[in-house]
Amino acid sequence: MRIVIASSEAVPFSKTGGLADVASSLSKALAEAGHEVWLVTPYYPQELAKLGDRAPKLEPLNLTLPIAVGTHLVTAQVYKTMLPGSNVSTFLIDQPEYFDRPSLYVDRLGDYRDNCERFVFFSRSVIQLAEALHFEPDIIHANDWQTALIPALLQIEGGMRIGLGQTASVFTIHNLAFQGQFWHWDMLLTGLDWKYFNWRQMEFFGNLNLMKTGIIFSDMITTVSPTYAREIQTPEFGCGLNGVLSSRRDVLVGILNGVDTEDWNPAHDRYLPKTYDVHTVDVGKAACKAELQKRLGLPISADKAVFGLVSRLTGQKGLDLVMGSTHDLMRHDVQLVVLGTGEPGYEAGLQRLAQEFPEKIAVTIGYNEELAHLIEAGSDIFLMPSQYEPCGLNQMYSLMYGTVPIVRSVGGLADSVVDATEGNVANSTANGFSFHEYRSDVLFRQVCRALGLYLDRRTWRQLQRTGMERDWSWKRSAKDYVAAYQRAIQKRRHDR
Ligand code: ADP
Repeated sequence: MRIVIASSEAVPFSKTGGLADVASSLSKALAEAGHEVWLVTPYYPQELAKLGDRAPKLEPLNLTLPIAVGTHLVTAQVYKTMLPGSNVSTFLIDQPEYFDRPSLYVDRLGDYRDNCERFVFFSRSVIQLAEALHFEPDIIHANDWQTALIPALLQIEGGMRIGLGQTASVFTIHNLAFQGQFWHWDMLLTGLDWKYFNWRQMEFFGNLNLMKTGIIFSDMITTVSPTYAREIQTPEFGCGLNGVLSSRRDVLVGILNGVDTEDWNPAHDRYLPKTYDVHTVDVGKAACKAELQKRLGLPISADKAVFGLVSRLTGQKGLDLVMGSTHDLMRHDVQLVVLGTGEPGYEAGLQRLAQEFPEKIAVTIGYNEELAHLIEAGSDIFLMPSQYEPCGLNQMYSLMYGTVPIVRSVGGLADSVVDATEGNVANSTANGFSFHEYRSDVLFRQVCRALGLYLDRRTWRQLQRTGMERDWSWKRSAKDYVAAYQRAIQKRRHDR
């Protein structure tokens, strides 16, 4: 299959969130499965500069694409490179006016005011690049609102573009909370007829809504876990688009993200003092735990259960529940290690708790890749009681590292963590603890359950083994994406 993956960010070229990881890891996994894959992403010079001499070498293509943005023509220059460690051809769309900025989407004042213009430009560039280089893709895979115009452009204008008349589109929702909503006059920037600006297609309560546009015009829609695919069809999680999503439920599927096993694998993790696998988990984790305690200035003790938490510090991640149950937790002989950065209220609240219990709580404010790995390996129990979680990566890292997670059963957490009920323990499917009601005391009840089982070493090892033995890699997810692509292609043929 010939596949174009369009993404507004992709590791290692740029990253603000999980989308950047997915775009690159999925591209690689698809190429390894034998598909011909192009990854197309903007060229952000400031992001590349951060990589220093680790930046991949870029080759300027002798190609200038004239892109219509409203009534203007804006030119796109293109760089080509290979995604490191793969044979994925990667194209970076260069337009300094739009992409040479200190950050990807926002500045101090909030969203860049020309975000619609920037990503209309990028979306059209992806299509024109494929046309100009005669790639004739079977699939263009768009991701989140930034590239959500692509399915509409393909459906409405694809027939007029050489080699794109047959191309099907797949649109993936990574986080429904960010929809790309703009005032109605930005419709002019898209170059599409006003007739599409209606409540069944691109309009949403008087505004242009790009997320809705992607949902309506794509041949297949995916999101990043099966449970999230169901949740977003409800008012509680649908961010206003639940009705639109329900109307397309026949083409909506959830595919759990994979883990980048080059970076995250306890058997060869470069950040750990001792690597380990399912057979050596006891000794490996003991060494990592001691190192973690030492590094954070906590008493070194093999017996105390260590609770870990690595997260953006925002309401979404269930920090109210964690902070609300910490005093109860501190009545036990345990330790809590937290790494995160985010809302000042949470940062300050957590730091206060660490001051109150210096022997038991260590809080690190900031972004620290190395410490994140050490916490995943050195903790016994991982806390992730999110309000909502489209997929979530940390619980999967925990499972791979033999760190038993306690999660709220939403989104991807519900699809990866199997609660240690008596039945699930008996049939060896349990790998963690989960609860539903969003309350501190309910979280604390799970903590107590976990501490109880922690003392039962045989059962605990079984929970660890079940988590560690499952395949969390992209290979598994890529197969599901290929199936979604095939359905999209069939649908495209059928609808024409
Ligand atoms: P989200 O994408 O909603 O933030 P995920 O669990 O899907 O949540 O992914 C978060 C990723 O960011 C993980 O790889 C996690 O380890 C990493 N991360 C989050 N906060 C930090 C931090 N303070 N330091 C290092 N890594 C972090």
